[in-house]
Amino acid sequence: MDKIERYYSISTFLKNFFGKKTVKLSIDAGFTCPNRDGTCGYGGCSFCSSGGSGELASEYTPGKIADAINEQIEIMSDKWPDAVYLAYFQAHSNTYAAVDELRSKYYEALSDPRISGIVIATRPDCLDEDVLDLLEEINSKYFMWIELGLQSIHPETREAMNIGYPLETYTHAVDELISRNIRIVSHLILGLPGETEEQMLDSVRFVCQKPIFGLKLHLMNLVSNSALYRTMPDYVSFDSIEEYVDLVVRCLEIIPPDITIHRLTGDVPRNLLVSPEWSYRKRTILNSINKELREKDSFQGKKA
Ligand code: SF4
Repeated sequence: MDKIERYYSISTFLKNFFGKKTVKLSIDAGFTCPNRDGTCGYGGCSFCSSGGSGELASEYTPGKIADAINEQIEIMSDKWPDAVYLAYFQAHSNTYAAVDELRSKYYEALSDPRISGIVIATRPDCLDEDVLDLLEEINSKYFMWIELGLQSIHPETREAMNIGYPLETYTHAVDELISRNIRIVSHLILGLPGETEEQMLDSVRFVCQKPIFGLKLHLMNLVSNSALYRTMPDYVSFDSIEEYVDLVVRCLEIIPPDITIHRLTGDVPRNLLVSPEWSYRKRTILNSINKELREKDSFQGKKA
């Protein structure tokens, strides 16, 4: 871990790995989700926006992943003109298609000489044997990680949020990916309805039992195009930044120091955000987390 950092951010890992600033280019590759098309459910996870968390991605045009990459590099290059780029298949479930289609889309992105690796976000129940074999093949040639949306380990929350697969499916997927030496980044949401802070900490402890590469902690944002908004329009996950920061610091303390941290806030377009209304102030939230860590003289892994 960098001495001046109190947690092991993915940006530090990537800077050390590639030798310079590394940026993910969000791509909507035209996939859908088995929790929306009826394969395992309809309507999606209750907290999910209808864009499947891909609102910030470039829109998909069939056969034109290259266009999406160009568009994203154009957006990013003003801020980081000399960055390393990773293709980030972000919207919906990016292993949910026939393996030939997956192969062609992943390799289309990787064939761009400006792309140095690939990040694939998916559901643990979309990792059949042939998909795992393809991922293993790509992982042997390119820098890669897979993101798995777990969100919570608690069955009652998973049921209430219509997540649509059991915890065992996540554990099985993690074991399969680890056996193929594929990096895993697990996603958890802090502040799902009905969960206590102790339950959220239990989810963090659980995912850290396996040698995962990274962890994304999402602040639970209520968005206006989600099923949850229709049933709980007044829901607010945390009343204040201070309350949220206190919990994040306690999470960081129990995360082993070698697990990279990919997110500690939420990330939704402001026009969709309903609550918490302060959630868009990402810089303030991150600064407050760092301040709290400094003041407590705490750091990632202090209590792991
Ligand atoms: S959160 Fe992911 S798995 Fe759930 S509905 Fe949205 S895209 Fe599908």
